Amino acid sequence: ARTKFVAGNWKMNTNKAAAVALAKGVADGAPKSGVEVGICPPFVYLDAVSAAIAGSPVLLGAQDVYFEKDGAFTGEVSLAMLKDLGVKFVLTGHSERRHVIKEPAELVAKKAQAIYDAGLTVVHCVGEKLEERDAGTTFAVCQKQIEELATSLTDAKRVVIAYEPVWAIGTGRTASDEQAQEVHAFIRDFMGKRWNKDFADAVRIQYGGSMKPDNAKGLLGQKDVDGGLIGGAALKADSFLAIAKAG
Ligand code: 13P
Repeated sequence: ARTKFVAGNWKMNTNKAAAVALAKGVADGAPKSGVEVGICPPFVYLDAVSAAIAGSPVLLGAQDVYFEKDGAFTGEVSLAMLKDLGVKFVLTGHSERRHVIKEPAELVAKKAQAIYDAGLTVVHCVGEKLEERDAGTTFAVCQKQIEELATSLTDAKRVVIAYEPVWAIGTGRTASDEQAQEVHAFIRDFMGKRWNKDFADAVRIQYGGSMKPDNAKGLLGQKDVDGGLIGGAALKADSFLAIAKAG
């Protein structure tokens, strides 16, 4: 059975004091077993948040990384730097990076590979825009984004997919339980073909997009929904923990 994984993506929110307070609130109330809980603060607060959650079961995550080891890459942050601060998992391909910041698929792929090669967990985000759903290309879009991951990534514990339909992110409009399950099942089936069935059965597939305490139980109750990637509702410890405990 897959252990559920619920992660908070704080995006470009909080300040130092708020980040530390939020992290402490999550650490204090995080379940010690049954579900993995993680938080992704902004880069600049990773160090302070790492200290705030020390000794708790909460996993530290980063929202982004650069794939090169070190050198002249102004403004970028390396995997060694993240590991130094206790980061265990890193997001790739988030829709805001793909569609707002215009990060190309080739760069997303290089980041995913580098994260895995560094021994960390890659949380690879996929999902269709509204016009793609309307055009019936949801599965094709998700498949193409999954193909950014090399088949040489074989440690299923360190590969997580986050299905985040773009139309559901920050809109208050969540996918229905059935819509989420349909895409999650497609993703697992496709991964079974691209890797193998054992790998696909072990990979966690999170749902993300306006997940809240009141819709979490339904979504997390779906057969192929193995957790959540939470934006807005992760900015309050009580709502985030309510989601984490709903699975
Ligand atoms: P919201 O929960 O705010 O819709 O954000 C989801 C998300 O993008 C998490 O990465």
